[in-house]
Amino acid sequence: EIYGGLNGFWDYGPMGAELKRNLRDTWWQTMTRDRDDVVGLDASIIMHPTVWTASGHVDTFSDPMSTCKHCKKLVRSDQWWAMMAEQNWTQSIAELIEPGTNRFQPAVLLKWGKGKGKQLAPNLALVRNPDVTISWVAEEIEKGRGPADATELYKFLATEQMAITGLVTPCPHCGGELTAPRPFNLMFRSHYGPVESEDNICYLRPETAQAIFVQFKNVLDSSRVKVPFGIAQIGKAFRNEITPRNYTFRSREFEQMELEFFIRPDDAVRLIHGQVEKWREGADLSATSPAWGWEMWHRYWVDQRTKYYDSVGLGTDVLDYHWQKPEELAHYARATVDILFKFPFGTEELEGIAARGDFDLSQHQKFSGKQLEVFDEELKAAVDKLSDEQKKEFIDKLFEDRKCADTTREESAAYADKLFKGFYLPHVIEPSAGLDRMALAVLAAAFDEETVTDEKGKAETRTVLRLHPRIAPVKCAIFPLLKNRPELVAKAREVEASLRRHMNIFYDEAGAIGRRYRRQDEIG
Ligand code: ATP
Repeated sequence: EIYGGLNGFWDYGPMGAELKRNLRDTWWQTMTRDRDDVVGLDASIIMHPTVWTASGHVDTFSDPMSTCKHCKKLVRSDQWWAMMAEQNWTQSIAELIEPGTNRFQPAVLLKWGKGKGKQLAPNLALVRNPDVTISWVAEEIEKGRGPADATELYKFLATEQMAITGLVTPCPHCGGELTAPRPFNLMFRSHYGPVESEDNICYLRPETAQAIFVQFKNVLDSSRVKVPFGIAQIGKAFRNEITPRNYTFRSREFEQMELEFFIRPDDAVRLIHGQVEKWREGADLSATSPAWGWEMWHRYWVDQRTKYYDSVGLGTDVLDYHWQKPEELAHYARATVDILFKFPFGTEELEGIAARGDFDLSQHQKFSGKQLEVFDEELKAAVDKLSDEQKKEFIDKLFEDRKCADTTREESAAYADKLFKGFYLPHVIEPSAGLDRMALAVLAAAFDEETVTDEKGKAETRTVLRLHPRIAPVKCAIFPLLKNRPELVAKAREVEASLRRHMNIFYDEAGAIGRRYRRQDEIG
């Protein structure tokens, strides 16, 4: 702050550090220590660069970006309308439009362009060239081609030479013209070692998940785990977001808490159990079953994560769910649910829970040339009991199921052959949460104001953070009633000493007792 700050990077002070640590600990406790089927990992932030080629991040981890031709600011193209709604200049123009319509008086807009608009949106065509722009708009309206809604009105006001350029989208910052969107890779790049060359490029990880995939075989071979099991990791991730916004909701350095839960492919489940348990409304998710297919595991993790949020004070009243439609899904995902939180600035993603098939492991197997398949004894034992006829039936069904994915009979047979030998690449369910977003959500949910009347009858509004005790930065505050009574102070100090080793506590003897309570209410 003393240097003006850096957009998209945030520090947490004493209370925030405690709050965040508590959240991190509750996640770790719930996701690993409370379970016997999940283990932890703590991988490095900078990994072998090929990890990011294999994962697809080098080629495709990008957002569309436009540059303002006037103020030179960069804008994320798929978010410019959301940003526009927050701008003073659009809000100011909106006040000039007849409510609920796109109608306005040209003279009123012209006056705005020559006056107020100069400060609010200096590069809007209406401001730079008011008479020409407004006459264009008036002419278009006369021809019946006027703005259809407020969004289009802003485009009209941003466009000077409509006949030549077509409507342009205005820069949210200054109203100027934006360039066409182009992909911008979000990974921070650096170099390892003393020489900066193309041969020693490395990246700050944009997610923690890939380390779990590349260490999958190591963990499997060195821990007493077998599929289904999970690997969890908490750590920093970095994305060079084009437009970091809404405090810690979208920042450039943030912390992720991710689990990769590895499961048997449905085909292996079918070979072992003769059937695959699929999701149906009302299915029991309280106890897992070996016959579950990926759909059940996916639903199970949505349920688990919902229970977790409830345990830190984010109940279903403040959450929402977005089941991605087929056209929204990443090409490798079979299903993705976003758990959303009702932030003051809109209902936005808190966590994504994706069923990713075997995409990641198969990519790393391909790029590294190392076998990442697991050998499943139960599968081998089940297959050994099958007759040749049953095996053939299995391959036929496999081929039928996969035909729509353009898989040939030979490919189906080769895949079945691996399964018959007991080998497969596990599929994965990935609950991926952001710690900083969660901290922001918790603060937003806990924030309250109460109006109280003091002894003199004066009304006062006070801030209260109603944080869940599990995550509250301070668990207990100890106040001697009077600081000039040694026996009271001694007792209070004794209580303090007995608690300090067990929890974060706060000792305070200064000021009126009411004020000391209030300070604690304020920090939750
Ligand atoms: P968005 O669509 O909001 O950019 P995403 O779908 O790209 O998010 P994921 O890649 O699924 O996000 O990352 C998992 C989680 O990490 C998100 O649900 C969010 O909580 C957190 N996260 C992602 N990007 C950021 C960021 N820039 N700042 C803070 N948290 C983030």
